[in-house]
Amino acid sequence: MNAYKQILVAVDLTEDSYQVCCKAIEVAGENRTDIFIIHVVEFVYQVSVAYDPMFYPAFEDLAKNEEELIKLSEDKMHDLIAKLDKKENLQVKSDVISGIPKTEILRLSEEEQSDLIVCGSHGRSGFELLLGSTANAILHHAPCDVLAVRTKK
Ligand code: AMP
Repeated sequence: MNAYKQILVAVDLTEDSYQVCCKAIEVAGENRTDIFIIHVVEFVYQVSVAYDPMFYPAFEDLAKNEEELIKLSEDKMHDLIAKLDKKENLQVKSDVISGIPKTEILRLSEEEQSDLIVCGSHGRSGFELLLGSTANAILHHAPCDVLAVRTKK
């Protein structure tokens, strides 16, 4: 089997993200490659404004909220990466972007020419399902292999 060369790791920054990253690091070690960890910040108004413009808040408030949320996510990402055991000179690249998680994860996987996407089986959505909705979308539409790390019993 060919080794993976570009591993993209999608994290929702819940506590399960550590488990997802540990598995990605294990696979990266076996394949002697590095990992790229991403988190997508999804703003609620991206959904709500489509339905009712009456609830669209002032632009300045939105921009401030966006900035704060991105900063908060960057801090969480920083803490997560600091906790990881980066053995054997593993390089960890990371990014926090905004948009719709499944769309951005799939877009980035193509842009980065990823040959493996590592995600959690469950995150904020879909505890009752076999897979969460983001994981499900990745699995169905990814242009490459997908490793869904089981994060909930
Ligand atoms: P879910 O489908 O929301 O239950 O989440 C399942 C998995 O999809 C998570 O464990 C993450 O690996 C990934 N994921 C969900 N939301 C995001 C997000 N906002 N950014 C990056 N990855 C995400």
